[in-house]
Amino acid sequence: MSSVVFTNVTIFDGSGAAPFKGEVLVDGQRIVRVGREGAPISAPQAQCIDGKGAFLMPGMTEAHTHFSWNDQPSLTAIQFMPPEEHMLWCVRVAKRYLEMGWTSALGAAAAKPRLDVVLRNAVDAGEFPGPRYLAGSQEITILGGLADNTLPHMPFRELNFGAVVSGPEEMRAMTRMFIKYGVDHLKINLSGEYIAGLSAESSPFSEEEIAMLSAEAKRAGKRVAAHARSAESVKQCVRHGLELVFHASFADEEALDMLEANKEKHFVAPGIGWLISTLYHAEPWGISEATATKMGYKRELETAAETLQKMHKRGIRILPGGDYGFAWMPHGTNARDLEYFVKYIGMTPTEVLLSATKLGGELMMRPDELGQIREGYLADILLVDGNPLNDLAILQDPKKITLVMKDGEIFRTSHDLLPPRGEVHAGTKLPADAGVERAVHSTTH
Ligand SMILES: [Zn+2]
Repeated sequence: MSSVVFTNVTIFDGSGAAPFKGEVLVDGQRIVRVGREGAPISAPQAQCIDGKGAFLMPGMTEAHTHFSWNDQPSLTAIQFMPPEEHMLWCVRVAKRYLEMGWTSALGAAAAKPRLDVVLRNAVDAGEFPGPRYLAGSQEITILGGLADNTLPHMPFRELNFGAVVSGPEEMRAMTRMFIKYGVDHLKINLSGEYIAGLSAESSPFSEEEIAMLSAEAKRAGKRVAAHARSAESVKQCVRHGLELVFHASFADEEALDMLEANKEKHFVAPGIGWLISTLYHAEPWGISEATATKMGYKRELETAAETLQKMHKRGIRILPGGDYGFAWMPHGTNARDLEYFVKYIGMTPTEVLLSATKLGGELMMRPDELGQIREGYLADILLVDGNPLNDLAILQDPKKITLVMKDGEIFRTSHDLLPPRGEVHAGTKLPADAGVERAVHSTTH
């Protein structure tokens, strides 16, 4: 078992306390001591990493990822990536998330039935680097709904982006199929999406279909995630106990009351970066601000900002991340959400970092051992050059994230923090590429 002590760091521990100067000792996969300035940790056997004043914080959780989205400008481009290349793509994306400090992620739907599950299994087995990962299903949808991307001449269901069901029994079969594949949670598209030509305020599923999904998921001990932009779809999430609510832009007062009354159960991952980027950053791909406004995104962003501000005041858990993996918001740029949470939702920088860390541990269903710098907790740790509480944008810069540790193992570090390879304490496992600074967008496509 390897042992590492971080000295000379400012610790943001994810508890809500103000950052303090101190030291952190990691032994094996866990944090075993957190020391404050003036009470140094004595650990002569440990590899010492002098943080030189760096900001030490828990690894972050991305609450709504689609590793199989391939940084292209359309859903069709994702849909038609052949399965073999698609799997390799997901492997590369997983590494990119880890490089950017996302040590945990929740898969919000895969573009093919088993991509998420196979990726999670490979990462868990140590075959490839990636965040701790909860694997999702494909997006379950209705005929003509969001993610039913077949053209009239294409065979029904074959090659489709989503998993199309009609009626409760088909829903039962589809749910059981994904459970058989080993998903951690199911995903359902309970509302539309403007870019697909479907109103975000539509709610196309019948109550019977949603009830069936919920019953079958619960029987297997699985959670359910929902694309839920309309007010009614958010209410459906609460009525049917679907824990993971994505978007929630048009949640009305009744929906907010329902969510607040059940706030211990639900998480909201608004994916607000999608609204902002599609509205303001997609022009090179043919979506000008005027076009996106016409689609409905400006109104949705304005409404979502108001809704999320209310939600935050009510103490409903809101987490960063969501829908990165398009040309105008490529994988790895996810930390843009942190600034957006301040600007659009009115969170303080401390609240934002807590939502990315402490709440992330809760989202990952490991609140007692993940998301904080605390004795006994899993050693998912970042060293950051600079103070994100003064400037959250530094977490978008791979050069500023100087070290990523997951499960007590150092994944990525800049040259100056670690002693040369030969001096590393025997038993310390370093990946072959540790010490190599890489650009985030090194992947070509
Ligand atoms: Zn999504």
